[in-house]
Amino acid sequence: MKEAKYIWMDGKFVAWNDANIHVLSHSLHYGNAAIEGTKAYKTKDGYAIFKLKEHTKRLLQSSKMTLLNVPYSEEELNEAQIELVRKNKFDGENVYLRPIVYLGYGVMGLYHKNAPVQTAIAAWEWGAYLGEEGLQKGIRLKISSFTRPSNRSTMGKAKASANYLNSQMAKYEAVEAGYDEALLLDDEGYVAEASGACFFMVRDGVLITPPNDNSLESITQKTVIEIAQKMGIVVLRRKITREEIYIADEAFLTGTAAEITPVREVDSRMLGAKGRGAITEAIQSAYFDIVFGRNPDYKHHLTYV
Ligand code: PMP
Repeated sequence: MKEAKYIWMDGKFVAWNDANIHVLSHSLHYGNAAIEGTKAYKTKDGYAIFKLKEHTKRLLQSSKMTLLNVPYSEEELNEAQIELVRKNKFDGENVYLRPIVYLGYGVMGLYHKNAPVQTAIAAWEWGAYLGEEGLQKGIRLKISSFTRPSNRSTMGKAKASANYLNSQMAKYEAVEAGYDEALLLDDEGYVAEASGACFFMVRDGVLITPPNDNSLESITQKTVIEIAQKMGIVVLRRKITREEIYIADEAFLTGTAAEITPVREVDSRMLGAKGRGAITEAIQSAYFDIVFGRNPDYKHHLTYV
């Protein structure tokens, strides 16, 4: 990874290499932490963070769900992220921001009420999550042998570190099998989400994405639905089964890091478009116009630093 100069830790800017924690930090052992993934784009007017407020709000909501009492307000966390991007004086690629709320050192055992809640934000330059080539030609997707955990046992709407063990296992399995990304089904066999992104497919000109019954409430998914509807594309939110994807005309993944990544193949079945389809390309192009500040209708979603 590309190092930056500073990391924000509990209200202070700390040199990148000094941003360390104790090996007995509670979160490291029992997995309770809440994270965000936010992106600052290098626009022609300098770096701008896309949907900063929405991401910070979700961080606080994830923390509430997982019983982490964050000692900072939404406004304080927004300000810290803006200041962090400023202070690091980035001048290369787009920047990824990773706020994390975690439990520090001092308490062992599962009951975490008295463990100190700590907050940190890192930011570094990071290119396309699924590769530049993936953005143009599309990626190969594998339906995972791992199921997204049931709503009875975990909380998929929390962007909780613990949920990423399931994602990590699915991603590893897919990549080792020669694919680029994993798509996870829920415990009833319907599409939930990819290991770190949302799923969309196109059939007969209609854009279809599953409801968030068993997935994160994705900020990019919401943006994409809005873009498509403004283009006059019919958008359906309904359950999807695997065999429907095999005969889809187009498919793509969305996420802050994944942006709009076309899917060209799923489980050895080439999709109709055989690459980046026309609807995918139009949505991808509109998305990049928005995040790079080229669409005045969406300027209010950008926080220039
Ligand atoms: N699902 C999962 C499991 C994710 O990790 C992400 C990335 N945060 C997404 C969906 C997409 O969410 P967003 O568009 O808010 O980045």
